[in-house]
Amino acid sequence: MGFRLANIDNRAVLVDDTHFYDVATISDGALGPDPMAAIADVATLHTLAASLASIEPTGALAGSVLGPPIPRPRNSFGIGLNYRSHVAEADMEVPKVPLVFTKFPSCIVGPTADVELRSEAADYEAELVVVIGRAGRDIDPANSWDHVAGVMAGQDISDRALQFAAKPPHFDLGKSRDTYGPTGPWLTSTDLLEDRDGVQIACDVNGERRQEDSSASLIFSVPELVAYISTIATLAPGDIIFTGTPEGVGVAQGNFLKPGDVVTTTISGVGTLTNVCR
Ligand code: ZN
Repeated sequence: MGFRLANIDNRAVLVDDTHFYDVATISDGALGPDPMAAIADVATLHTLAASLASIEPTGALAGSVLGPPIPRPRNSFGIGLNYRSHVAEADMEVPKVPLVFTKFPSCIVGPTADVELRSEAADYEAELVVVIGRAGRDIDPANSWDHVAGVMAGQDISDRALQFAAKPPHFDLGKSRDTYGPTGPWLTSTDLLEDRDGVQIACDVNGERRQEDSSASLIFSVPELVAYISTIATLAPGDIIFTGTPEGVGVAQGNFLKPGDVVTTTISGVGTLTNVCR
């Protein structure tokens, strides 16, 4: 059965629409409290999820502050220029292979965390984030989804000045300032998605729609990305991949994030991130 894995007070919890269930408690200690240990045992999470209806919840979701579902990914990858519409607005060429960069794990924060602006060139990028649940190397694209535990909403907040301060640009630094990686609100297992290859992605800034597309428009699909990256680095449970952003980013219009801006990122069938810029 499908599950939604969240993080409350650095403890792995399963959530339904209104409540959360502490994974260490409901598994009688079979799984510890660490979200990183939970994601390494997807089979147990599926089993636990099937029993939630008959278990006493640990608490109510309302009023609980969620942390990043995957708080300490061993590797955190980003993909640049992976939607044709975004390639066009960036006035770049369509990549022949996935443009992979590192989004430092230290930038990963939760679904309602503040984004601490460090320059006047911060930009939003709404993205589907894929979470690895089963290790693999040289994964066949036909089997890629078997290695994916689930997906999250993500914001690949990007400091454009820093990103393009050098030639060639250093994507990794520009996308890795502290707090520039909101994720969540929970990891949704792929069997809960209506169409795992066509997930709707949207971004609003202060209530104004800026980005909207489907992951069906990805140049390099989720299976292709997982397979490709696994030829370079053996993938491990808890590794995450920001799969790229559709058109509508601020830099294309010279429209950067300011203190007080509210960035809302929605992945249909998953959930919403609400991050305030400070
Ligand atoms: Zn991005």
